[in-house]
Amino acid sequence: MMPAGVRESARGGAPRAKMTPVRLAGGLLCAFGMVAAMSGGAAAHAAGFIARTLHQPVPGGVAVLSLGASERKPSARYDAAPVMVVKDSNDEWVAIVGIDLKAARGRHELRVEGPEGSRRLVFEVGHKEYASQHIKLKNQAHVTPDPEQLKRYEREYAEQMEAYARFRPGGPSNVLLDPPVKGRTSSPFGLRRFFNGEERNPHSGLDFAVPRGTPVQAPADGVVTIVGDYFFNGRTVFVDHGQGFITMYCHLDAVSVDVGREVKRGEVLGRVGATGRATGPHLHWNVSLNGNRVDPAIFLKGR
Ligand SMILES: [Zn+2]
Repeated sequence: MMPAGVRESARGGAPRAKMTPVRLAGGLLCAFGMVAAMSGGAAAHAAGFIARTLHQPVPGGVAVLSLGASERKPSARYDAAPVMVVKDSNDEWVAIVGIDLKAARGRHELRVEGPEGSRRLVFEVGHKEYASQHIKLKNQAHVTPDPEQLKRYEREYAEQMEAYARFRPGGPSNVLLDPPVKGRTSSPFGLRRFFNGEERNPHSGLDFAVPRGTPVQAPADGVVTIVGDYFFNGRTVFVDHGQGFITMYCHLDAVSVDVGREVKRGEVLGRVGATGRATGPHLHWNVSLNGNRVDPAIFLKGR
């Protein structure tokens, strides 16, 4: 249950995500047995830009599911949580579903409420293998916290889960995101991590190896929902971009926004640092959809 936030060990070298070719098969099929064939991960009939760009239905990925071109915006739920619905470039509504890193491979279900009533959309979650990484930490408390620290962590964890679960109607300003810092990425999302030999939660975000003081910019418009100073994540900012699309910035040296502030795309949120469980300055960045952390790199396509 450890959260995010560690830089790759210097001795481990650059970790490489081992990617198994993903079978984007599946087909979309609704409760009435109607099957829309899929090819290349998007609906065969002229999928829109968002579907073509973001659809990666694997654990830690995103499923973009067409909901039709009704006049009124449909709503959708996945695992009981409300899901982001936006209009794609082909004028169809699409649900953009965040898939948990621990999701089982196979059939998953979206519940859709639209003008024609309620229906189920079944979609297929494929397989993806993520690489492993071994990290040495000098601070043993950051490997195995003592009971007092654990209590603090649990409180902080609950606060963050609550922020991830929020669903604000409206937004986002953009679904493809700007990188929050300029610089190279280091630890990818999904890495299985062993701290001093003990396996902990996989890497829930994407790291950028950039110097202390590098400005961190909002990748889309949003509202600041958390400014925290956490045991593992250090100084942390959460931004709610709307419809359950939420980003988190960790290990900051300094924060320049307050809770409740409406930020614009490009606005500076703070500066890169090494606070919390970090072996050196870097930005740890999480992207969350419908309460599930997903691979931020998906949203940086073409950047
Ligand atoms: Zn990280």
